Parts: sequence; C-alpha cells; structure tokens
Amino acid sequence: MMVYFRDNIEDLKGYEPGFQPKEAEVVKLNTNENPYPPSAKVMEVLGSLSAERLRRYPDPLGEEFRSAAAAVNGVPTDQIMCCNGGDDLLTIAFRAFCDEKRPVAYPIPTYSLYPVLAKLQNCERIEVPFDAEFNLPAKLAGTGAALTIVCNPNAPSGSFVRVEELASLADELSGVLLIDEAYVDFAEKNCTELIREFDNVIVLRSMSKGYSLAGIRFGYGIAQPGLIAGLMKVKDSYNVDAVAIAVAAAAIKDREYFKQCVEKVKAERSRMIEQLRAIGFDVPKSQSNFLLARYKEGNAAKICEELAKQDIYIRYFPYPGLADKLRITIGTAEQNDRLLAALKEIVA
Ligand SMILES: *Cc1c(COP(=O)(O)O)cnc(C)c1O
Repeated sequence: MMVYFRDNIEDLKGYEPGFQPKEAEVVKLNTNENPYPPSAKVMEVLGSLSAERLRRYPDPLGEEFRSAAAAVNGVPTDQIMCCNGGDDLLTIAFRAFCDEKRPVAYPIPTYSLYPVLAKLQNCERIEVPFDAEFNLPAKLAGTGAALTIVCNPNAPSGSFVRVEELASLADELSGVLLIDEAYVDFAEKNCTELIREFDNVIVLRSMSKGYSLAGIRFGYGIAQPGLIAGLMKVKDSYNVDAVAIAVAAAAIKDREYFKQCVEKVKAERSRMIEQLRAIGFDVPKSQSNFLLARYKEGNAAKICEELAKQDIYIRYFPYPGLADKLRITIGTAEQNDRLLAALKEIVA
C-alpha cells in the first residue's frame, strides 16, 4: 500500500477524546465539562446575532473578547490572544517553539494531548515523572527544552503546584514556560501575576470548563506582548469565529453567574471526596472540577465498564501510575448521587 503520510503521522496513534454519548439522560462525568448550562447572557447573544456578522469574516484578533478578558485578568489587551479552544494555543505553541532540534518538556502523568502534539511536530519529548504526591520535579528546570509545559491544576491528578514554585521555574528556564490553566477556575490561585515579571511565561485559559462552553471552542493565552506577537504569526488568520467571539465575551463578562457555578462545583467536590472516601476510595484533594480516585481492592477498568452499562460514564486511563485509578468529573448533586449509588452497589 502507498504511504502518503510523513513517517511521524503514519506512526501516530492520535489523541483519544473521552466518549461522547448521544443520549441526553446519561450521567456524563468523563470529560470534565461543567454540569451547569452557560450564562443566560450567552443564550441572549446567540439569539440576537445578525446575519451581517455571519456574512463577514470575523475580527482576526477577537478584540471584543480580548478587552473583556483583559479587564477580568487585570492585564493590558495586547497581552491576550484568542484561541479556538485552549488546545489551539497548545498547537500554536508547539509550532512556534518546537522542532527536531528544539525539545518540549513536561512532568508526567499529565494531559495526554502534549505527546500527540510533540509527535506531530517531530520534536523530542522530555517527560519527567512527578513523585507520588505530584510535586513539581526539580529536574524540569534543567532539561534545556525550548518549551516547558506545566498543567496546573494538573490533569488528571487535580494537584496544584504553588505559584512561587512556578515563578522559580520560569526564572531558571532558558526557554518558554507554558502554564496550562484549563482548570484554574476551580483552584484557589492562578499564575496571572507571573506575566508581569517574566517575558518567557504563557498562561493558557479555556472557556470549556469554568464557563460551560466546551461546545463553542474558545480559549485564550496571556503573555507579554513580545510572545503574543510571535504566536500571532503562527495562528490561523481567523482562528476564532464570529459566533464564538460574541458568546465567549458574553460569558466572561457575566462574573456573577460564573462565580455561582464555580462555587456549586466546589461544594459538590468536597461532598464527593467525603462520600467516596466513606465507601473505600482513596481520594486526594483536588483544585479542579474532577477527582482522581483509587479503589484499594478493585479493578479500576472493570468498575468503569460496570458503570458504563448503567449509562454512567467516568474516565479510566490505562497508563503508568493511573491504571488503578478513576477520574471522575464533578457533576450536579443529582448526577453525583446516581454515581455514588451505582458505585456502592459495584464495590459492595
Ligand atoms: C480541557 C483542557 C484544555 C483546553 O481545552 P479546550 O476545550 O480546547 O479549551 C487544555 N488543557 C487541559 C489539561 C485540558 O483539560
């Protein structure tokens, strides 16, 4: 058979997204979506979009969103870059900083998209293991990588590296430090302040989790203007569409609704930790909207399968360090109760 693709594409397995069931009534706690609907302001904006807005190309920089995000984060507008989901920013960063001679480094286990993007870009991967408590590995500072990524809060552990430690890392690195803050809306702190001090830091944000907009595909980067200008050269000229810009801007401006949703998720997170521990799971603290639970005696893959038979979906990763664990997205109180009831039956 003819081989049409570059070797690295032929060899690539590709990113495996979590299962997306079609039915609405299933309990879907497998891909870390927000269980609550987007802000009512979002639905208003969607309903009032003019035909003219769709006929024309979108604003290439998404200024409407940029200025809203700049105000929320207390940074100038030229330090914000709009992206087609946080994943778009990751792709842009790999293309901008990495190649055969310019490696990427990141601690593992972490977001499984990073190695896929590295393989696409044909760059070396320097994967430095976390310890059992998910502390930032000291070795990460000395890899010489062109791009270092730290997911914080980390997925799928939910653990958090202190801002001061990331400041030291940024200071020690010769390359760029990208801090993937896709879940930071559920954490106590964020790394925005590092942008002021360091010209090599990029903070990634997503509208998918905290703002209930996974379907619209919107994220953004925060960095000093020098880095933003370079990343702009790499992005698609119209990387965010007109509908997404309007919707994401409406969502980020509705602070009150955002805070309510986040508080509800955090309250359920505390309750789920307690309840899961009570039925025999080891559950570390989490600063995100999911938990990484280990069932001491059980077979994690089996538990996941049993739940799926009952239309309850959580996530299992057959990877080193994760094979005995289950990742559970925090749902509504009702969804969480259905999961707990099913788990009690399975592990009884
Ligand atoms: C969800 C997620 C992103 C970005 O997701 P988008 O939906 O593309 O915004 C980035 N990093 C991690 C670790 C994530 O979980």
